[in-house]
Amino acid sequence: MSKPRILIIGAGYGGMMTATRLIKELSPNDAEITLVNKHNYHYQTTWLHQPAAGTLHHDRTRMLIKKVVDPSRVKFIQDTVTEIKPKENKVITENGELAYDYLVIGLGFESNTFGIKGLDTHAFTIRSIDTVRKIRDHIEYQFASYNHDEEPKDHKLTIAVGGAGLTGVEFVAELANRVPELCREYDIDRSKVRIINIEGAPTILPNFDKELVDYAIHQLESKGVEFKLNTFIKECTEESVIVQEKDSEDLEEIKAGTIVWTGGVKANSIVEKSGFQTNRGKIEVDDALRSPEYPNVFVVGDCSLVMDKETNRPCPPTAQLAMQQGVALAKNIRHILHNEPTEPFVYKNKGTVASLGAGDAIAVVGNKRIKGAPAAALKKIVDDRYLLMLGGVGLMVKKGKLNLFK
Ligand code: FAD
Ligand code: NAD
Repeated sequence: MSKPRILIIGAGYGGMMTATRLIKELSPNDAEITLVNKHNYHYQTTWLHQPAAGTLHHDRTRMLIKKVVDPSRVKFIQDTVTEIKPKENKVITENGELAYDYLVIGLGFESNTFGIKGLDTHAFTIRSIDTVRKIRDHIEYQFASYNHDEEPKDHKLTIAVGGAGLTGVEFVAELANRVPELCREYDIDRSKVRIINIEGAPTILPNFDKELVDYAIHQLESKGVEFKLNTFIKECTEESVIVQEKDSEDLEEIKAGTIVWTGGVKANSIVEKSGFQTNRGKIEVDDALRSPEYPNVFVVGDCSLVMDKETNRPCPPTAQLAMQQGVALAKNIRHILHNEPTEPFVYKNKGTVASLGAGDAIAVVGNKRIKGAPAAALKKIVDDRYLLMLGGVGLMVKKGKLNLFK
């Protein structure tokens, strides 16, 4: 009898964790496993604010998939998925089609621009190695060319960041460290550069309590970041964002040489386009992380919607959730293949750490509030723990942040 075919699409946190754990859970005779991903490398999305600002080389945030996922156990195919046909047990890719008995969807997120005019065309987003390389190069070009312009425009050196959630704040924090280096490198007076973080809500980082938010604002403002709160981006043009303060009728134009949108994310649109029943664009999975419509389709990471039983609200889309799902799903697939009952997935919130740039962060772990260097150390531990879980001590030593030899 032929072996059941397990197809994993997307090699992000959810897909990689599922693949590496399936290798441990199953014997080679249990199933044929295939992993499909757009690139031949896996990147740690959670580190991308650093290469975007230019404070860490992008190669530090990626690894070849074949080095981490044993090619003798998992067939890797570099290809781009264009559609899922769940009624036919097929996935369509740019280069053909793949049939499956069990499908794991781990295609991650897309930036959500909420239909705001001009954002898709004129703003950069922090999504992948490709998108962050563009941000870094663009900012560097603005600095490098500034002194060569016949009539230099100061707004060329303004970086406007839309959205002060975790992505926006972690990114402006890195910029605050990078800008003085760029100024030195290109003979530019620091006072000519503006980093503006625009947020519609009355506060940055709405999920942190006031004490930590005040600390973050103080630390970042002291490094020259400007926060514009209660202010919504209404439109984006090639050289500006049009904003409106809450309760005001007036619009203001903020000119900027670089515009980065970090105002929200949504599930990969392939899910909705493929005709799955969705809730906020995501597949609301059951306790076994299964689609309610197709019992052989599982979903992990940002394409899945899981209710947090403690808060009775959807779990936020995080790497933490995707990793926990990957571990649980690999076990459940073993149970299914061995005709055993599945185990219900329960999300365990281990806390949140927001980086405020090198050596600084804020964190909430259980009922503990941590700030400064201890929180920054915790962030590195969290980042390295993922590498340890994924590829063991070897990967952590080679690619991790706590490695003193780098
Ligand atoms: P991803 O990790 O995004 O991976 C999706 C994979 O699918 C990618 O490899 C992609 O190339 C591939 N793919 C996409 N489309 C296709 C296609 N059509 N065909 C083939 N392959 C495709 N969460 C935390 O818990 N902690 C943090 O500290 C944290 N920091 C973050 C910092 C930043 C800057 C950002 C942007 C997010 C951060 N997050 C963090 C959120 C976290 O990164 C996401 O929730 C997580 O990456 C989701 O994992 P995933 O497996 O669903 O998808
Ligand atoms: P988000 O949705 O959490 O934050 C987006 C922010 O943009 C919000 O504060 C929102 O009020 C603001 N916004 C939206 N529209 C706006 C507009 N028109 N004008 C001005 N402001 C506007 O998105 P994110 O920060 O990209 O985070 C996405 C997910 O990734 C979340 O689940 C988050 O927890 C996770 N994440 C975690 C970490 C971490 O744990 N350190 C870091 C980054 C991201």
